[in-house]
Amino acid sequence: MNIHEYQAKELLRAHGVPVPPGEVATTPEEAERIASTFGGPVVVKAQVHAGGRGKAGGVKLAKDAAEAREHATRILGMQIKGLVVEKVLVTPAEDIASEAYVGIVVDRATRSPVFMVSREGGIDIEEVAATNPGAIHRLPVDTRYGLLPFQAHWLATRLYDDPAQQRACARIMRQLYNTFIDSGASLAEINPLITTPAGEVKAIDAKINIDDNELFRHPEIEALRDTSAEPPSETAAREAGLTFIQLDGNIGAVVNGAGLAMATMDLIKFYGGEPANFLDIGGSSNPEKVVNALRIITSDPHVRVICFNIFGGITRCDDVANGIVEATRRIQIGVPLVIRLTGTNEEKAVQILAEAGFSATTSMDEVVQKAVELAGAAKGNV
Ligand code: GDP
Ligand code: MN
Repeated sequence: MNIHEYQAKELLRAHGVPVPPGEVATTPEEAERIASTFGGPVVVKAQVHAGGRGKAGGVKLAKDAAEAREHATRILGMQIKGLVVEKVLVTPAEDIASEAYVGIVVDRATRSPVFMVSREGGIDIEEVAATNPGAIHRLPVDTRYGLLPFQAHWLATRLYDDPAQQRACARIMRQLYNTFIDSGASLAEINPLITTPAGEVKAIDAKINIDDNELFRHPEIEALRDTSAEPPSETAAREAGLTFIQLDGNIGAVVNGAGLAMATMDLIKFYGGEPANFLDIGGSSNPEKVVNALRIITSDPHVRVICFNIFGGITRCDDVANGIVEATRRIQIGVPLVIRLTGTNEEKAVQILAEAGFSATTSMDEVVQKAVELAGAAKGNV
């Protein structure tokens, strides 16, 4: 789950990280009022679940409240990477002497959280990673012990030469680590971590992603969810109890089990296709889940074909077949369905589908090849 910068900053603040104050506005008038309470120059910042806001014109320095209002007028309603800006953060502008990058991500290779830090922070960290990877320092953390003081200090000395700044930074590294662990994050990033001309070290931008599997034990973080900022399809899927991730391709997939869903996507790619989604209808599927799955997939205009890949175990193939038939009665599908099912109640399923005019195969290769072929044909073989 993504959260907004202002929410990430609140989590960091609660763990002691020095973060400038700020308030969120949904109208230009509100932005002006907030700016005037801070006095002096402010920064108006688009709150969307996307990086690179600065480059997209979503982060603007205003010399006074009137200018903050003008910037808010322009930023509210603008689109950044396809997302409409509905809120802005208004925060006092800081004088910046240096910008560093600090991030923690879960690293599969070391099976641990890994710190990444660089003196070359700011808006072009991806560029630094691509062209000058030596400027990024990495440190895996053993979660049994947490971030030890000497490790925090090592990270701080990668970033700063001044001992006072190193001490301030080491403290921030521990606070950031605690924020990451306590909120069940999969990523926590401060970019930039700035120094001011007076020598203070502060976080002026923050990004935190929460691991969805951690949310059940963090109701206060689940409450930060902004459904207006997520793809509507993902919200609908979550509410329907489906595991769903929107992708860029044109082959919709309905699969039971996350492993089989991954294998299906691999096979789609193998045969030259592009999946439009990851969708796991789960184990004990009732027909209603299939109807919901089809409703969500067909709302994606890029989908050219929908591929069912069902391995009947706890999932009963006849339930899935009934769901397919029911869905075709209730919603306009508009694209071909290709169906593979095998296992529990397979014969019954084949019969239900045949009566409704569908055919099914038991071969996964066959169904995926057919789907790729139909998706290509629908593209007009461009
Ligand atoms: P991002 O582009 O989405 O990462 O948004 P950031 O909040 O990181 O802002 C982008 C850049 O704008 C920063 O790297 C800074 O250079 C600049 N910026 C942001 N806030 C301030 C501020 O308070 N004062 C000044 N001078 N620059 C700022
Ligand atoms: Mn940033």
